[in-house]
Amino acid sequence: MGGLTPVGDDDQGLGPGYHSAQVEVAVRLNTNESPYPPPAGFVAALAASVSSISFNRYPDREATALRSGLAQMHGVDPENVFCANGSNEVLQTLLLAYGGPGRSAAVFEPTYTLHGHIARLTRTTVAVGERTAALALDLGEVKRVLTDARPAVTFLCSPNNPTGEALAEEVVREVLDLAPGLVVVDEAYGQFAPWSARALVADDVALVVARTYSKTWSMAAARLGYLIGPASVIAEVERRALPYHLDAVKQAAGLLALDYRAEMEYRVTAVAAERDRLASALSEMAVETWPSDANFILFRPLQRDGHAVWQALVERSVLVRDCSSWPRLAGCLRVTVGTPEEDDMFLTALAEVLA
Ligand code: PMP
Repeated sequence: MGGLTPVGDDDQGLGPGYHSAQVEVAVRLNTNESPYPPPAGFVAALAASVSSISFNRYPDREATALRSGLAQMHGVDPENVFCANGSNEVLQTLLLAYGGPGRSAAVFEPTYTLHGHIARLTRTTVAVGERTAALALDLGEVKRVLTDARPAVTFLCSPNNPTGEALAEEVVREVLDLAPGLVVVDEAYGQFAPWSARALVADDVALVVARTYSKTWSMAAARLGYLIGPASVIAEVERRALPYHLDAVKQAAGLLALDYRAEMEYRVTAVAAERDRLASALSEMAVETWPSDANFILFRPLQRDGHAVWQALVERSVLVRDCSSWPRLAGCLRVTVGTPEEDDMFLTALAEVLA
């Protein structure tokens, strides 16, 4: 519409946003979800719990029971937990509190695209650091960016999407020492990693850890994520959230899911074993791969154009993530670990395409 200029179409540019192709295929391995539905017992318990919700009333604004349940699981207090509609909303609310005009957020590319995107949405300047040629985090580069930009927020992602590797504890500790502001460790795939940065969270440490129900918990459809951090930071973030942003069904689902932790942990083990099988099969093919501590693997066809391979896989009803045109990831594709059957269909299709 003439004369209307939306905020954000300025020097930084919002870009096209973040989209994953939603194509009708038999095998969907493009969005790092769990290949398994939640346990049947959970679904039945949730149905029963939903029938007792007073739908004419607003939900518990503080999400008291859910926060208490999560706090108990992580060995912190409810005041150390903030919940929102997916970890994306967690991060957006965090940047409403600590980002904004005149401030910057550091990201180390390639990493989760939404960190930079949400920064731009909240009019936070993005300070971009580069990973090494092998796509690893480089502490020298971290130091350079943090010294130059003095960011209010420093994003780490462990395991990193889309490269897959988890950061070592010493590295996170080092970044905490270097960072002038708040360090955010995005642990969307944290259950697959050998350790969690939540062990470093304390009221006098400028660190928050973001987690999600979307992956290991098999609840991507529920849109629920949370942040663990110092009580003072959590209180500031909470102040920026809209009233009643967490609906009652979601709160009930998030709390009930915690009763099924053993099943979730079993799935993590199964998916990790399947990931290793997938990685070993890929290592026999004409592709370069990156080691993964998550539920996905980044790979690059060696002799074929990445986008052409993606397209040929779609024609065989297999959808993976096409990262081939992303900066620093020329020719790369990312495959989510599926069920053994799905992964076999992917491997068969890929072998055909690369032949
Ligand atoms: N962080 C990372 C690193 C992710 O890969 C994703 C999902 N693509 C998210 C956060 C967002 O997850 P959620 O569904 O909780 O918004």
